[in-house]
Amino acid sequence: MNAPFSREKKQDHTRKSKPTLIICGAGIAGVSAAYFLSQEWRGEIYLVDGNSPLSFTSDRSSECYRNWWSDPAMLALMNRSIDWMEELAKQTANAFHLNRRGYLYVTARPESIDQMIGEAETIAEQGGGELRIHEPTGKSYQPTDPNLDGADVLIGSQLIRRHFPYLTAEAVAALHVRRAGWLSAQQFGMVLLQKAQQNGVCFRRTRVLGAEVASGKVRKVRLSDGSDLHCDVFINAAGPYLAEVGKFLGVDLPVLNDLHLKISLRDPLGVVGREAPLLIWNDPQEIEWSEEEKEFLMSAPENQALLSALPPGAHVRPEGGRASQMVLMLWDYQARPFVSVVWPPPLDELFAEVVLRGLTPMLPGLRAYQERMPRPQLDGGYYTHTVENRPLIGPLPIEGTYVIGALSGFGIMAACAAAELLAAYILEKPLPFYAADFALERYQDPAYLPRILSQAGFGQL
Ligand SMILES: Cc1cc2nc3c(=O)[nH]c(=O)nc-3n(C[C@H](O)[C@H](O)[C@H](O)COP(=O)(O)OP(=O)(O)OC[C@H]3O[C@@H](n4cnc5c(N)ncnc54)[C@H](O)[C@@H]3O)c2cc1C
Repeated sequence: MNAPFSREKKQDHTRKSKPTLIICGAGIAGVSAAYFLSQEWRGEIYLVDGNSPLSFTSDRSSECYRNWWSDPAMLALMNRSIDWMEELAKQTANAFHLNRRGYLYVTARPESIDQMIGEAETIAEQGGGELRIHEPTGKSYQPTDPNLDGADVLIGSQLIRRHFPYLTAEAVAALHVRRAGWLSAQQFGMVLLQKAQQNGVCFRRTRVLGAEVASGKVRKVRLSDGSDLHCDVFINAAGPYLAEVGKFLGVDLPVLNDLHLKISLRDPLGVVGREAPLLIWNDPQEIEWSEEEKEFLMSAPENQALLSALPPGAHVRPEGGRASQMVLMLWDYQARPFVSVVWPPPLDELFAEVVLRGLTPMLPGLRAYQERMPRPQLDGGYYTHTVENRPLIGPLPIEGTYVIGALSGFGIMAACAAAELLAAYILEKPLPFYAADFALERYQDPAYLPRILSQAGFGQL
């Protein structure tokens, strides 16, 4: 026995003729796994979580999706996942408000244009879709066509501001990724959960405390309500607790947890267009602080980095319908690694101010809020990720055990294809070509990590 497993038990569900499958964790990964497995699993499925479904990391995301990835395996996974999201949107009269506004990456650096186009060409060729380049006088760009795939590059401030008048006049190029947008993650998860429950999945609100492994096979799990549950298949979908739950099985999972924050803010001046795509400032920058602010930042060692060059990637999108004034803002200008998970996560009161400043070069109208910022709502959650930022999906070394996790900053958008892949392993169906790229086994090849880390573009946004 490899894991803490009590012999004192209130109740032991004895071996049943029908096989029992337990999913530990009812975030988007576990819920999606329950949905895909429930369609064909000939036995019982328990979705077990100490919290309400979809109330943990999956409740904290900015709910965006894109098929635009420089890693071909991730690109294929996301294309597949978006196929599923579109199919589910069709089936449910778009109950989860999936839109296709795209991601708009904006630069004010003329020297970045060639790089922007070069990277886009590579992604387009790897399956991202057609790339269309629009010169300053071009007339063929369609900003809102939901049927367009691939991406458009807009050259020149005039063309960019004709379509996105709220962007800075300094912008020299913008890349509009089309198979991208956002959705209501909560409603999306509920659609999957309800379908899974209609297929017979049983949700149990209790924590998994340990697992019994005998003769190399998982046998049962111990629950915090005092009962034991017989188990033929065990799926670790524990989000930020992936490594902890892995230890119940005696399996080390190579994952890290980084805290990521976001703010939602009222935008009464309408600085961000209500029909805008996700707007991303693609340039590194140094924030212009006043002398007084500089002095304040210098006084605390953890804030001094804010006086130096900060990375690209500040982003914002409108939230809610036309009548709403809310916008969501994020920027990972600083790494926040955590050894153990603290919930609710600690927040950084400077975050809102820094993100607002970081977005101002792209959206000069935000300067109006620097004197008096509408009261921001700050929250956050953990990106649970592997070192190369590919997820973990597939079997674990103990017979009958599997993992679906390390979904980093892409768990909502990847959930369907990740769960479909997991179900294919368990139901012994053919695996897609990218299966090996996400299996834990990949780390057994000593050349794998050096090879993958030497390639550019394992981004998180
Ligand atoms: C600020 C932020 C922005 C993001 N933006 C995006 C985005 O735009 N698009 C996108 O696709 N993704 C985004 N993400 C990432 C996405 O939210 C996550 O990848 C995803 O929610 C992870 O889902 P999960 O099911 O693996 O984990 P979780 O949602 O954390 O679920 C794990 C569940 O496991 C349960 N659990 C843990 N241990 C046990 C146990 N022992 N017993 C029983 N239950 C247990 C927990 O209670 C929890 O409910 C963002 C994340 C953050 C933090």
